[in-house]
Amino acid sequence: MSKDFDLICIGGGSGGIATARRAAAHGARCAVVERERLGGTCVNVGCVPKKVMWNAAHTGEALAHAADYGFDVDARGLDWAALVERREAYIRRLNDIYARNLEKSEVALLRGNARFVDEHTLDVDGERVTAERFVIAVGGRPTVPDIPGAELGIDSDGFFALTHCPGEVAVVGAGYIAVELAGVLRALGANVRLVVRREAPLRHFDPIIQEAYLEAAAAEGIEVVNHFTPVRLARKGQTLTMEAEDGQRVDGLEQVVWAIGRESSTTGLDLRKAGVAARNNGTLAVDRYQATNVPHIFALGDVIGGAFQLTPVAIAAGRRLADRLFGGHADRYLPYENIPTVVFTHPPIGTVGLTEAQARERHGDEAVRVYTTRFIPMEYALAAQEAKRRSAMKLVCVGDEERVVGVHLFGNGADEMLQGFAVAVRMGATKADFDDTVAIHPTSAEEVVTMT
Ligand code: NAP
Repeated sequence: MSKDFDLICIGGGSGGIATARRAAAHGARCAVVERERLGGTCVNVGCVPKKVMWNAAHTGEALAHAADYGFDVDARGLDWAALVERREAYIRRLNDIYARNLEKSEVALLRGNARFVDEHTLDVDGERVTAERFVIAVGGRPTVPDIPGAELGIDSDGFFALTHCPGEVAVVGAGYIAVELAGVLRALGANVRLVVRREAPLRHFDPIIQEAYLEAAAAEGIEVVNHFTPVRLARKGQTLTMEAEDGQRVDGLEQVVWAIGRESSTTGLDLRKAGVAARNNGTLAVDRYQATNVPHIFALGDVIGGAFQLTPVAIAAGRRLADRLFGGHADRYLPYENIPTVVFTHPPIGTVGLTEAQARERHGDEAVRVYTTRFIPMEYALAAQEAKRRSAMKLVCVGDEERVVGVHLFGNGADEMLQGFAVAVRMGATKADFDDTVAIHPTSAEEVVTMT
């Protein structure tokens, strides 16, 4: 019996929408199922509002430095509520654009909760729909620790719902979201403690990035509290107190933000009815072609877990899958390597490829050579000594030809600098290629091609 659709994507976020639109462009009859706002985590409670807040913080920093250049600026504070209102209006415009793009691509939008009835049928809020193939792209949601009082804190969704800047905040976590939110909150006026359960935040990044981040965080006034595993959060009068397993306390808090990772949103999909196996944590294992254990059911984006829970990764995986299934590109897939990524700290981090430790493990100590630089960017030339922030960079090279397998950047502009260098790394550029490229002066980027 013919099915209603060739492809149904469950989840109207970056991955699901990109897959469905590309498949439709190849002539497939497609639908997207979404129960909330279109655009998923990225647009509604992730990259987009985060970048707006980061831009606000960046603007505040520029105002603070304006006097160095002779401007007579009197910044009288931030209207947080106005910022949030404008940010949310921008997001609503994006939601509408996503809806219009689906219409233009002739992708049907099915509103509601999807759950499998069998391996070719979904129930969407009581309506049955069938498809030849499915893509599960339901993303994830923030994890909250299973400890007494955890509900007194907020997660990253709660951060975006804040109606004012809290005075005293603890951000708990050690990854992307923890350092990004800690940085924005600090830059916009909060006193921030970054509470980390092990020896340092950003443990999986190259040491040059960890060190540079810690130096900058200290200079910004973020207090990093290490070796603190929260076991209880309690309200004491007007404030919150967080206790660690060894009895340490962090108290006097107005707000606690949990940023300890994200979990997948597969509960409720009735995966077993379709025979799809999930890991214990709900993520879905896939092969290089994004196929689950059921060959016509695919998964991509945050729901597959792993180190690259990034919007452009979900989009790239989805478009390649659609090209392979409907566009005649039989072997198209996304290799999950050399994926550039930026952490929007203050200043930002940009990294692609292997850390020094990963390169040594993969290629052996003898084969690895690293180049590093630390410098004060020229934009601080007129600033007071205590306002200056150092940038740091490292190239990780392997073999006699010194192929560049890792680029690690910390400093103003690193976010915009990285993309082009990621192309070079992907193409197999060597240190000599970097050196042979004429520098752009005076910039921070020139340091990447002048390291000795
Ligand atoms: P994450 O990067 O996985 O970091 C969470 C960290 O919190 C863990 O690595 C762990 O670090 C620590 N942690 C875990 N359980 C804990 C607990 N019970 N108590 C205290 N600390 C705990 O997760 P995330 O920051 O939530 O980000 C989720 C994903 O979103 C990431 O994979 C990232 O790719 C993506 N993201 C990307 C961007 C960007 O591209 N700019 C921004 C935001 C998010 P330790 O093991 O070191 O303690």
